Amino acid sequence: MIFNLDDIKGDVKRSADVVIIGSGAGGAPLAKELSGEGYSVILVEEGAKFDREKDFNLNPTQSFMRMYRDAGQTLTLGVPFVLLPLGKTLGGTTTINSGTALRMLRPILKKWHTFHGLSDITEEELNLLYAHLEEYLFVQRADPEVAGPVARTFLAGAQKLGLSSGWLPRNAKECEGYGTCVFGCPSGAKQSMDVSFIPDAVKNGTDVYTCCRAAKITTKGGKATGMTGFFVDPFTGKKTGHKIELEARVVVLSGGAIYTPFFLLRQGGLANSSGQVGRNLEIHPCVQVVSLMDEPMNPPKGIPQSSYVDEFKDEGVTLEGGTVPPEIHALALTGAGNKHAALMSSYPNMGLFGAMISDTDSWGRVVNLPRSGYSPTMLYMLKGEDVRKAKLSTLLMSEIWFAAGARKVFTPFAGHYEISSPRDMKALEQSKVRAADIYAMSAYHPVGTCRMGGDPESSVVKHTCETWDVEDLYICDGSALPTSAGVNPQLTIMAISMRCAGFIDDRLSNKK
Ligand SMILES: Cc1cc2nc3c(=O)[nH]c(=O)nc-3n(C[C@H](O)[C@H](O)[C@H](O)COP(=O)(O)OP(=O)(O)OC[C@H]3O[C@@H](n4cnc5c(N)ncnc54)[C@H](O)[C@@H]3O)c2cc1C
Ligand code: SF4
Repeated sequence: MIFNLDDIKGDVKRSADVVIIGSGAGGAPLAKELSGEGYSVILVEEGAKFDREKDFNLNPTQSFMRMYRDAGQTLTLGVPFVLLPLGKTLGGTTTINSGTALRMLRPILKKWHTFHGLSDITEEELNLLYAHLEEYLFVQRADPEVAGPVARTFLAGAQKLGLSSGWLPRNAKECEGYGTCVFGCPSGAKQSMDVSFIPDAVKNGTDVYTCCRAAKITTKGGKATGMTGFFVDPFTGKKTGHKIELEARVVVLSGGAIYTPFFLLRQGGLANSSGQVGRNLEIHPCVQVVSLMDEPMNPPKGIPQSSYVDEFKDEGVTLEGGTVPPEIHALALTGAGNKHAALMSSYPNMGLFGAMISDTDSWGRVVNLPRSGYSPTMLYMLKGEDVRKAKLSTLLMSEIWFAAGARKVFTPFAGHYEISSPRDMKALEQSKVRAADIYAMSAYHPVGTCRMGGDPESSVVKHTCETWDVEDLYICDGSALPTSAGVNPQLTIMAISMRCAGFIDDRLSNKK
C-alpha cells in the first residue's frame, strides 16, 4: 500500500525484513525484487506521489516546484557553476528524467575491474541484467516520426558530415512525443519507477511511505537495525509533527549520489572509515548549442532526448538531444532583457542539442557545511581535458547545425556567444578557453560519492553494495557507481540494484 501524507494520523512504528530509503533507480527495483521473494519491505520516500492525470499537466513551473529539489535550481559551487537538477518524488529522478536507457560502455566496466577491484561484476552478469531490464521496461529505439523536427534536422546534419549517429533506446512504450518527460510523462509511456517497479513492488506487498524523510540509521553492535525519521510537507520541507521508527534486518540507503553521502555525513560520518563518503563526485557536465534555422522547428513537439552522435565517444564526448520547452531553452541563450526576449521570439525556428562530457580531470565533492541546514553543498571544478572536451563538443555541434542549414548558432563560451561565419568558428577553435568562460553548464548524472570497490581503505561499499563498516547497511544508488557509466546511468543503477537484491536475499535467507 502507498501511504500519502493524508493517511498519516500519528507516529508510525513498525518492523520489516528490509527498509529502503529512496524510491529512484536504486531503491525501486530492490523493493520489487525483495518483496517478490516474500520478504516484508518498507520503502520511504521524501517526495510526494504524483498522479499522472492530475499532476503531470505540462506546467513546467509547477513541476519544478513540486517534483525537483530546490525547484530545480540546485547548483554546484566552483568554476563554472553547474546546474545539477535532482528529482524529489515517488520514483526519484526517474519520474522526471528523459527516459534514455543505455548499457554502460565496456571500457568503463574494464576500468572498474582494473582500477577499482570490481572483477566480481562480470560483463556476462551485467548483460543478463540489462536484457531483463530492457524487456521489463519496454526499452526500444525512439521513433523518428515522433521524435520531432529538431532531432531529425540535427541527425541529417550529422549524416551529411558522415558522423556515427542514430536514435536512442528509451524506456518508453507508445511514446506520443509530448516533449515533457522532465516534468513527468502525461501519457504514462515512460516506464519510470513510479509506473513500473513501484506498482509491482506494492502488488508484492511492499508498503511505501511518501513525504517521509529518513533522518538516522539505527545501529547496534556494528550492525544496522533500522531507521528513524519524520513526515514532511513535500513542498515546504517543514515537519508535520509525526515521526516514523522502523526496525529492519537490512537497511538500504538509496537517496541518490548527493543526498546519500549527505545523509551519512550528517550522521557523524557513518560508514566513512575510508574518508571517501562525499568524495569522487562525477557529474557528466553538459554544454548546449542553439541554432537559428530558416525552417520552423516546432519545439517542443517531439521527444526531449531521442537521438545521438557518438563519433567521439572514445574521447569522452557524446551528443544527445531532441527538443526542449521554452523555459529550458531560455537558459541556453545569453543576454538579458530586450535582447534575450528578441532571441526567444525566434524560439519556433530554433533547435537545441546537448553534449555530455565524461569528466576525467575535474574534481567534485559533496560536503555538509555547518549551519547550512538540510542542504548539501556540492563542490565542482571543471578542469584540464574536460574544458577541452567542452570546446570540442561546442565546435562539433556548431558544425553539425551548419551542415543542417543553420543561419547562426549560439554557444555557451564567453566572447563566442554567436557564431555566424567560418571566421567566427575559427576564432572559437583557436581561442584558449578556460572553465570560467563557460556561461551555462548543466549536469544530470551525479555518481561516485559512496563508491564501490575491492579495498575498504579507498571505497565505501563492497561489490555487493554492503558498506564495509556497518553490517546489514547497503548503499544502492548512483553514489555506489565508482565512476560515470560513460552513458546515461539509470539502467546501470537499476542493474546494480537487481544484483544487490540477490546478495540481500542470500543474507536474509542465511539468517533465517
Ligand atoms: C532532468 C534529468 C534527466 C535525466 N535523464 C536521464 C536519462 O534520460 N537517462 C538516464 O539514464 N538518466 C537520466 N537522468 C539521471 C537518472 O535519472 C539518475 O541517474 C537516476 O535516477 C539516479 O538514481 P538514484 O536511485 O541514484 O537516485 P534518484 O532517482 O534521484 O532517487 C533518490 C530518491 O531518494 C529520495 N531521498 C533522498 N534522501 C532521502 C531521505 N533522507 N529520506 C527519504 N527519501 C530520500 C529522493 O527524494 C529521491 O526521490 C536524468 C536526470 C535528470 C535530473
Ligand atoms: S515524450 Fe512525452 S509521451 Fe514520450 S515519454 Fe516523454 S513525456 Fe511521455
